[in-house]
Amino acid sequence: MNSCIFCKIAAKQIPSNLLYESDRVLAFPDIGPQAPVHLLIIPKAHYAHLGEIPDEQLGVVEEMFTVARKLAADKGVQDRGYRLVMNVNPEGGQTVFHVHLHLLAGRPMGPSLIG
Ligand code: 5GP
Ligand code: ZN
Repeated sequence: MNSCIFCKIAAKQIPSNLLYESDRVLAFPDIGPQAPVHLLIIPKAHYAHLGEIPDEQLGVVEEMFTVARKLAADKGVQDRGYRLVMNVNPEGGQTVFHVHLHLLAGRPMGPSLIG
């Protein structure tokens, strides 16, 4: 989708500090970090939200989680802990409509799911 900011990052039209890249998945830092470590893990293909990924393509979500735990280990936060978040559609808090998984770490996340 040519107006999508994450598609532009995936197409390298916008530079980003890529932390991981495969045929299907990319990871890079969030532009507005909400924790000392705040990374985004995305499918390269454009799906507006989780529900748009066809069943036969759901392997990409498995890869996103595989990348998330690898990056958590790489960043040295695996043992301290981290939070993975996927916002889905407006009431879920989604603002960029290209599927992405947040990896947040480096500070206590607290017991609340929403903050
Ligand atoms: P959402 O609210 O959709 O779950 O999260 C969208 C995230 O994308 C936000 O945390 C926001 O800071 C991040 N973001 C928005 N635009 C850009 C961008 O151009 N580059 C990067 N790296 N992150 C972005
Ligand atoms: Zn997109």
